Amino acid sequence: MEYKQCIACGQPFKPRPQVPQQAYCSAPSCQRERKRQWQRLKLQNDPDYQDNQDRAQKAWLERNPNYSRQYRDSHPEYVKRNRDQQRERVAQPHNPAVAKMDASAPPQAFPSGIYRVRPVVVSGVAKMDAWIVEITRLSDTCPCAEANCKEMT
Ligand SMILES: [Zn+2]
Repeated sequence: MEYKQCIACGQPFKPRPQVPQQAYCSAPSCQRERKRQWQRLKLQNDPDYQDNQDRAQKAWLERNPNYSRQYRDSHPEYVKRNRDQQRERVAQPHNPAVAKMDASAPPQAFPSGIYRVRPVVVSGVAKMDAWIVEITRLSDTCPCAEANCKEMT
Protein backbone atom coordinates (compact mmCIF):
# COMPACT_ATOMS: atom_id res chain seq x y z
CA MET A 1 0.00 0.00 0.00
CA GLU A 2 1.30 3.42 -0.98
CA TYR A 3 1.80 6.26 1.42
CA LYS A 4 -0.74 9.06 1.28
CA GLN A 5 -0.69 12.59 2.61
CA CYS A 6 -3.13 13.29 5.47
CA ILE A 7 -5.50 16.06 4.40
CA ALA A 8 -5.58 17.42 7.96
CA CYS A 9 -1.96 17.48 9.14
CA GLY A 10 -0.19 16.96 5.81
CA GLN A 11 1.96 14.12 7.17
CA PRO A 12 2.48 10.96 5.11
CA PHE A 13 0.65 7.88 6.37
CA LYS A 14 -0.14 4.36 5.23
CA PRO A 15 -3.90 3.86 4.67
CA ARG A 16 -5.35 0.81 6.41
CA PRO A 17 -5.88 -2.03 3.92
CA GLN A 18 -9.57 -2.18 4.90
CA VAL A 19 -9.95 1.56 4.08
CA PRO A 20 -8.19 2.24 0.78
CA GLN A 21 -9.92 5.65 0.49
CA GLN A 22 -8.59 6.75 3.90
CA ALA A 23 -7.72 10.44 3.70
CA TYR A 24 -6.88 11.21 7.34
CA CYS A 25 -4.03 9.67 9.31
CA SER A 26 -4.74 7.94 12.62
CA ALA A 27 -3.55 10.81 14.84
CA PRO A 28 -6.35 11.61 17.32
CA SER A 29 -6.48 15.27 16.26
CA CYS A 30 -6.83 14.27 12.59
CA GLN A 31 -9.54 11.74 13.42
CA ARG A 32 -11.39 14.47 15.34
CA GLU A 33 -11.07 16.71 12.28
CA ARG A 34 -12.45 13.90 10.07
CA LYS A 35 -15.41 13.51 12.42
CA ARG A 36 -15.96 17.28 12.47
CA GLN A 37 -16.00 17.45 8.66
CA TRP A 38 -18.32 14.44 8.43
CA GLN A 39 -20.68 16.05 10.93
CA ARG A 40 -20.57 19.41 9.11
CA LEU A 41 -21.56 17.75 5.81
CA LYS A 42 -24.17 15.58 7.51
CA LEU A 43 -25.75 18.67 9.12
CA GLN A 44 -25.89 20.38 5.73
CA ASN A 45 -27.35 17.45 3.85
CA ASP A 46 -29.46 15.44 6.28
CA PRO A 47 -32.48 17.28 7.76
CA ASP A 48 -33.26 14.31 10.04
CA TYR A 49 -29.75 14.36 11.47
CA GLN A 50 -29.95 18.15 11.91
CA ASP A 51 -33.30 17.85 13.69
CA ASN A 52 -31.95 15.07 15.91
CA GLN A 53 -28.86 17.12 16.79
CA ASP A 54 -30.99 20.18 17.58
CA ARG A 55 -33.16 18.17 19.94
CA ALA A 56 -30.19 16.48 21.61
CA GLN A 57 -28.56 19.87 22.12
CA LYS A 58 -31.73 21.38 23.63
CA ALA A 59 -32.17 18.37 25.92
CA TRP A 60 -28.55 18.65 27.05
CA LEU A 61 -28.98 22.37 27.71
CA GLU A 62 -32.06 21.63 29.82
CA ARG A 63 -30.06 19.10 31.85
CA ASN A 64 -27.12 21.54 32.19
CA PRO A 65 -28.68 25.01 32.41
CA ASN A 66 -25.72 26.59 34.19
CA TYR A 67 -22.95 25.07 32.10
CA SER A 68 -22.10 28.21 30.10
CA ARG A 69 -22.01 30.45 33.17
CA GLN A 70 -19.91 27.99 35.15
CA TYR A 71 -17.53 27.52 32.22
CA ARG A 72 -17.07 31.28 31.87
CA ASP A 73 -16.62 31.65 35.65
CA SER A 74 -13.91 28.97 35.73
CA HIS A 75 -12.18 30.09 32.49
CA PRO A 76 -11.52 33.83 32.78
CA GLU A 77 -8.92 33.65 29.95
CA TYR A 78 -11.68 32.37 27.64
CA VAL A 79 -13.93 35.29 28.59
CA LYS A 80 -11.11 37.80 28.10
CA ARG A 81 -10.18 36.33 24.70
CA ASN A 82 -13.80 36.49 23.50
CA ARG A 83 -14.15 40.08 24.69
CA ASP A 84 -10.91 41.11 23.00
CA GLN A 85 -11.89 39.42 19.74
CA GLN A 86 -15.34 41.00 19.76
CA ARG A 87 -13.80 44.43 20.48
CA GLU A 88 -11.51 43.93 17.47
CA ARG A 89 -14.41 42.88 15.24
CA VAL A 90 -16.48 45.88 16.26
CA ALA A 91 -13.53 48.22 15.73
CA GLN A 92 -13.29 47.19 12.05
CA PRO A 93 -15.71 49.32 10.04
CA HIS A 94 -18.19 47.49 7.82
CA ASN A 95 -17.38 44.08 9.24
CA PRO A 96 -20.06 41.68 8.02
CA ALA A 97 -19.42 39.51 11.12
CA VAL A 98 -20.89 42.32 13.23
CA ALA A 99 -24.14 42.71 11.41
CA LYS A 100 -26.83 44.84 12.96
CA MET A 101 -29.88 42.68 13.44
CA ASP A 102 -32.26 45.16 11.90
CA ALA A 103 -29.95 45.94 8.99
CA SER A 104 -29.58 42.35 7.84
CA ALA A 105 -33.14 41.22 8.49
CA PRO A 106 -35.26 40.87 5.40
CA PRO A 107 -37.91 43.56 4.97
CA GLN A 108 -41.01 42.64 6.93
CA ALA A 109 -43.80 41.57 4.64
CA PHE A 110 -46.30 42.07 7.45
CA PRO A 111 -45.62 44.85 9.93
CA SER A 112 -46.88 44.18 13.45
CA GLY A 113 -50.50 45.08 13.90
CA ILE A 114 -53.97 43.68 14.12
CA TYR A 115 -55.12 41.77 11.09
CA ARG A 116 -58.37 40.18 10.07
CA VAL A 117 -57.91 36.76 8.54
CA ARG A 118 -60.94 35.74 6.55
CA PRO A 119 -61.26 32.50 4.60
CA VAL A 120 -61.85 33.09 0.93
CA VAL A 121 -64.22 30.63 -0.64
CA VAL A 122 -63.11 29.60 -4.07
CA SER A 123 -65.96 27.86 -5.80
CA GLY A 124 -65.22 24.45 -7.20
CA VAL A 125 -61.79 24.20 -5.57
CA ALA A 126 -61.57 21.94 -2.54
CA LYS A 127 -58.00 22.02 -1.27
CA MET A 128 -58.02 20.32 2.12
CA ASP A 129 -54.38 21.02 2.97
CA ALA A 130 -54.43 24.80 2.49
CA TRP A 131 -56.53 27.78 3.43
CA ILE A 132 -57.01 30.66 1.07
CA VAL A 133 -57.36 33.74 3.24
CA GLU A 134 -57.62 37.48 2.90
CA ILE A 135 -55.47 39.42 5.38
CA THR A 136 -56.55 42.97 6.09
CA ARG A 137 -54.55 45.26 8.35
CA LEU A 138 -56.79 46.89 10.94
CA SER A 139 -54.36 48.67 13.27
CA ASP A 140 -50.65 49.09 13.92
CA THR A 141 -50.85 49.11 17.69
CA CYS A 142 -51.05 46.14 19.99
CA PRO A 143 -54.23 45.83 22.06
CA CYS A 144 -52.29 44.80 25.16
CA ALA A 145 -51.05 48.43 25.47
CA GLU A 146 -48.00 47.37 27.51
CA ALA A 147 -45.07 49.78 27.31
CA ASN A 148 -42.61 46.91 26.89
CA CYS A 149 -44.74 44.93 24.46
CA LYS A 150 -42.62 43.50 21.67
CA GLU A 151 -45.58 43.46 19.27
CA MET A 152 -45.92 47.25 19.43
CA THR A 153 -44.52 49.15 16.45
ZN1 LIG B 1 -3.05 13.68 10.06
